[in-house]
Amino acid sequence: MRSIEEINKKIESGDANIFTAEEFKQLVKDDDAPSFDEVDVVTTGTCGVMSGTAAVFNLIAAEPGRFIRAKNIYLNGVPGNVGPCPNEWLGSVDLILHGTSKSPENPDYGGGFLLKDLIDGKDIDIKVETLNGEIIESTTNLDEMGRAQIFGTRMAFKNYTAFTNPSKEEVSSIFSAIPLEGNLSGLTFSGCGDLNPLQNDPVHNVIKEGRSILLNGAKGLVIGDGTRSSPEKPNLMLTADIKNMEPGYLGGFKTGQGAEVFDTVAIPIPVLNEEIYNNLLIKNDEIPLTVSDIKGRHMPLCETDYGALWDNHQSRPKYDREKCKNCSDCIIEKICPTNAFANERLDLTRCFGCGICVHYCRNNSFEMDTGSVELEINGKTEEIPIICRQSDILRANKLSTKLKKMIIKEEFKV
Ligand code: SF4
Ligand code: SF4
Repeated sequence: MRSIEEINKKIESGDANIFTAEEFKQLVKDDDAPSFDEVDVVTTGTCGVMSGTAAVFNLIAAEPGRFIRAKNIYLNGVPGNVGPCPNEWLGSVDLILHGTSKSPENPDYGGGFLLKDLIDGKDIDIKVETLNGEIIESTTNLDEMGRAQIFGTRMAFKNYTAFTNPSKEEVSSIFSAIPLEGNLSGLTFSGCGDLNPLQNDPVHNVIKEGRSILLNGAKGLVIGDGTRSSPEKPNLMLTADIKNMEPGYLGGFKTGQGAEVFDTVAIPIPVLNEEIYNNLLIKNDEIPLTVSDIKGRHMPLCETDYGALWDNHQSRPKYDREKCKNCSDCIIEKICPTNAFANERLDLTRCFGCGICVHYCRNNSFEMDTGSVELEINGKTEEIPIICRQSDILRANKLSTKLKKMIIKEEFKV
């Protein structure tokens, strides 16, 4: 046993042993794990499509007295939900924006892309339909907003399901960046495996209501359990101020069912006792993952593990301009879920490492080993390539590293 006060004293004196989950797991995999006495804090992290993301805004749409109250509101064409406060005659609007809300004119632009534009410092268009039928149009940005806060209702999910499509027809779903082709032609999955905070603290020894976290780079809090959270499949409700978030950790992610949103979360695990320490020893190849039919989400086909999906594979593609034929209708520009590829240029700051470009470029201009899994299905062994990863270990590791540095500099209290 050791207390949080002891750990904080060691941090203050510069003597604490702090590891990111990536560093710690590497030592475990190398059979060189630090002992209980040699580790004080492990910073864990996850990044992935998190559909439960919602933002609460207060913004000025017009001068006071211009309209009694808003009935509908659109930000860059994406519908928000007006209220709960009516803001009568104030000219301002309180609203809740869903990260999954989509622009009716362009379903590939939604709440996630809008939140990214705001965090990037861009101006956004406001359109308000008032109670008496007037249309008011203006612009705003994050600096001009009174309040902008994310509430994630279901974040940092511990257990996911991987999907493939055994049928003959393609299936459109939020679980794949593009409609998933049939005949077991590919596998799509989410989850950062042994980096995930809840995977490292499965019984919530330390990850509890009121604990401090980083959400998309901003200091935030655990509110409590997320929706549909259960002891077997826990997730968290989290909150943080959008004005303190950093570009790159949050964004839109196009799927077969329109735009979704991704977030990045980092949570420190203070190693207070041997149970907490033992839970941190878990490795990707010890974390099972069920593979299901994409149409019957709860119809398991077989089992794999996160070791087969993440270990020894690459996290970012290389784009070879020599191989690119500059097709007039580049399919990758259309289907890249984060719009990282445009005008023959790969923007690695936007790239998610999902793997879609590697599998769908007509001339194999992208290279990245995303791996494949051998699955026993109906008594036959099938080799299924991983074609879409909806989680990003690079961003998870980056935020865990930032958290470690903040703890060392005493900018973040464990
Ligand atoms: S589809 Fe591939 S080869 Fe064609 S323009 Fe796009 S990236 Fe280049
Ligand atoms: S891996 Fe390819 S398709 Fe996926 S985000 Fe990066 S550039 Fe886009």
